[in-house]
Amino acid sequence: MLGAYLSSAPFICEIGTLMKSIAAIALTPNATKTLQPICSNIGAQLWIPETITNIAQAQTYRGDLKTHVASLWDSQEAIVFCLATGAVVRLIAPLLQHKSTDPAVIVVDETGKFVISLCSGHQGGADKLATLIAQLIGATPVLTGVSSSLGLPAVDMLGVPFGWRRGEGDWTGVSAVVARGKPVQVIQEAGSNLWQTTYSFKDSPTPQAKIYITARNVEAKNWGEGTRSPKLFKRELDYPQIQWHPRVLWVGVGCERGTPKETIASAIKKVFLEHQLAENAIAAITTIDLKADEIGLLELCQEQDLPLITFTKEALSAITVPNPSQVVEAEVGTPSVAEAAAMIAANSQTLLVTKQIFKSVGAVTIAIAQSAQEYTGRTGKLLLVGTGPGQLDQITPASQKAIAEADVVIGYSLYIDLIAPLLQKEQIIEAMPITQERQRAERAIELANWGLTVAVVSSGDSGIYGMAGIVMEQLQAANWDGKTPSVQLFPGISALQAAASRVGTPLMHDFCAISLSDLLTPWKTIEKRLIAAAQADFITALYNPKSQTRTQQLATATTIFLKYRDANTPVAIVRSAYRPDEQITLTTLDKLLDTTVDMLTTVLIGNQTTRTHNNWMITPRGYLGFGDPNALNMS
Ligand code: SAH
Repeated sequence: MLGAYLSSAPFICEIGTLMKSIAAIALTPNATKTLQPICSNIGAQLWIPETITNIAQAQTYRGDLKTHVASLWDSQEAIVFCLATGAVVRLIAPLLQHKSTDPAVIVVDETGKFVISLCSGHQGGADKLATLIAQLIGATPVLTGVSSSLGLPAVDMLGVPFGWRRGEGDWTGVSAVVARGKPVQVIQEAGSNLWQTTYSFKDSPTPQAKIYITARNVEAKNWGEGTRSPKLFKRELDYPQIQWHPRVLWVGVGCERGTPKETIASAIKKVFLEHQLAENAIAAITTIDLKADEIGLLELCQEQDLPLITFTKEALSAITVPNPSQVVEAEVGTPSVAEAAAMIAANSQTLLVTKQIFKSVGAVTIAIAQSAQEYTGRTGKLLLVGTGPGQLDQITPASQKAIAEADVVIGYSLYIDLIAPLLQKEQIIEAMPITQERQRAERAIELANWGLTVAVVSSGDSGIYGMAGIVMEQLQAANWDGKTPSVQLFPGISALQAAASRVGTPLMHDFCAISLSDLLTPWKTIEKRLIAAAQADFITALYNPKSQTRTQQLATATTIFLKYRDANTPVAIVRSAYRPDEQITLTTLDKLLDTTVDMLTTVLIGNQTTRTHNNWMITPRGYLGFGDPNALNMS
């Protein structure tokens, strides 16, 4: 069934944004069949040998597989093999370099039962990709990393959602201490502490490993210059340590026209070394707009994957800096470039390092300011996900994939509990009480604006009395440009479909949904719509029919319907559809109020032709001459 779904309705691929280049390799027609739907869904290029012909979307390679894999190795972020694990191991063995640079390697068995994350599990994203592919084809993901087997989040993933960069350190050593459940000390000097919602380390006065979260280069301090040897480091401290670098340092740069990249880079290096700062903690290079085309700066930014942020002379001269210069003012119209630019970009009143001047080939001025919040370097995404009525298998694969991909999952605690098996251990989960829709939406937008991928989950369909509405309204109110953060909606099975499916085909003719909640809609409006629906003979699904304090509305709605419809009109009262406490009552309009109804219930009122048959509710479409044949379009 899943296979049929995949081939008939490929959904937009979120892995495509996670990874830009994925190659898949099949050697047999069966393996090709297994990989094809995966490739079309994750945007992977399928490679097959010349001996297999007539495969749509596949490219053939010439020569032997070993050479072909070697040619793909450096350019691909992931390679998915559908072939024996042993063969894959032999193929990739000579190519492996380091888990931080090797592509993620995935093996899928020919029958599509297992998806193995073979190497570059965390850092290369193989675990995540294997999990997503497994979800896609209904297979079992096989993850064998230590933290996977212990159900612990991995230390080398801790800062990834916030765009932190990994510094030097003994990453394997620290991971091993965590995996053994030994105490670890975390020293955080910069960056968000949101990671604490997912990670908790055993603390003790005698820790066996240290994790620094810092803009400093801690190793440089401990080792001292000229002694940068891991051996010495280990002897001195006898336990492993690592450093994560939140990107909080904004480097203001002023330079003479034509100053080469090397001069600027070496000036930055010197300042960072002298102040024991980590270059991995750089958020951006910032300067005056006159320098937006300065070749040396542009080359440096490109090489180090840093943004170049520029300000006008007016903006720069509005800042009070420690070291203004009349010479600079005479030249470019502001008394400070480096210091002022760093302070504006970091949104800080102070500097971490005041202006330093370097002269060699060209001349460059460097100043550094630190921001309170780190720059993530990522473009945020809001995934507005409908999770269906409750049971996991009623959630679409696309929604499941969206949930798996998110850094943060936000939702009403009941719905978060219902999807618990889909959540990943590194994900930040923010479950909130039912009444806090506004806060949930605000929080989601705030995190997405910061660069995180945020899934906002709603039961049923998120766009039907769900969280997608408030998120979109708030984005609009905040003058959202429609693109950043990006928004993607994932439809879900709404309560009216879920309820209908439990009792038959009540919605087979024109129908409508009316929410009886007058918290956000005036009762007069609801009443008007009830009358119109009853009059027009719409089958009607009543959402939010009754709460502890709101008890009158359902009685009024029933009275209205009784005016226009027969007392015997079939009514289905479905509570907690597809949940363990599901209750279904088939009754008639005149007895509707005899059944207990609450906020977990949907009421379906049939139209004039709806009938019951042996405990099934059937609204004729008109094929057998029932209903209103004139209204029916049989084409
Ligand atoms: N977005 C949801 C609706 C949220 S409004 C959807 O598309 O289904 C909340 C109302 O939905 C509840 O008061 C109830 O009327 C209905 N509802 C939600 N889940 C339900 C379920 N599992 N069974 C019956 N009704 C449900």
